[in-house]
Amino acid sequence: MPKVTLNNGIQIPVLGFGVYTIAPEHTEQVVTEALAVGYRLIDTAAAYENEEAVGRAIAKSGIPRDELFVTTKLWVQDAGDDSAKRAFERSLRRLGLDYLDLYLIHQPFGDYYGAWRAMQNLNRQGAARAIGVSNFYPDRLVDLIDHNEITPAVNQIETHPYFQRGAEQDLMRNRGVQLGSWGPLAHGRDDLFTHRILNEIATAHGKSVAQVVLRWLIQRGIVVIPKSVRPERMAENVDVFDFRLTEDEMNRIAPLDTGSSSVFDHRDPQSVSWLGNHRFNT
Ligand code: NAD
Repeated sequence: MPKVTLNNGIQIPVLGFGVYTIAPEHTEQVVTEALAVGYRLIDTAAAYENEEAVGRAIAKSGIPRDELFVTTKLWVQDAGDDSAKRAFERSLRRLGLDYLDLYLIHQPFGDYYGAWRAMQNLNRQGAARAIGVSNFYPDRLVDLIDHNEITPAVNQIETHPYFQRGAEQDLMRNRGVQLGSWGPLAHGRDDLFTHRILNEIATAHGKSVAQVVLRWLIQRGIVVIPKSVRPERMAENVDVFDFRLTEDEMNRIAPLDTGSSSVFDHRDPQSVSWLGNHRFNT
């Protein structure tokens, strides 16, 4: 599995497995299958309420800890210096781990400056090998970077052919922040899997549209964490390292960009209020 080096020298696999919306009672089995087909990066969150099941699958796998890369995220209700520290400890306990590879601020809402101060300390102590953010638009990202000591290693944002984030990626590259894509397959929305251009490129390589999209993101230098609960799709999504898109093919995908989210606008006051006030059992 190829890796990308983050701004603090830590290496992250370029492709991982996301567990959003996988019910806790199914997660252990699904993650066990994902590990069996070769995923080594697992992306969860306190808000997914399935960290314990992820932890059980990891423990059962017998895979050495240093071969795994585990990401989890801090929810809004736990922002703030002290609460973030406590939330981190709860996540670690649920996962059954003694350190995290990557700890992210899930949303740019609430007292995330306080949270970042706690996370900087966790990073300095080695409890979180890397720290980062998620869903940060460029203005909030730059402000956080400019007024803190540690620059986020990763900003995990919705990125797929319909929302390509090219200018944001340039800015992040200049600031030393790795773009991580969530929703790399756009949740299959807007007829992604039947799109004519994507299908033509897929046919030319004897690959699926999902594989083409993941390959396109990886060739742009983006870390991807597709999700599937079906073992054959898990295997399909990880099998993207034996072909390469040409420059012409990359250019054919560029015009699919709509420049806006297929899921959530993190700047829309209604979304901000809905997300910011959503409580989970964290
Ligand atoms: P995704 O784009 O990975 O789409 C997943 C869906 O696509 C699946 O449910 C399945 O229906 C379909 N699919 C997957 N592989 C396929 C294949 N090979 N062929 C056909 N259909 C296929 O969406 P996602 O799960 O939302 O995103 C991936 C991960 O990103 C999540 O699991 C989570 O870990 C993370 N995420 C983070 C945030 C955040 O706010 N940071 C938000 C959403 C998701």
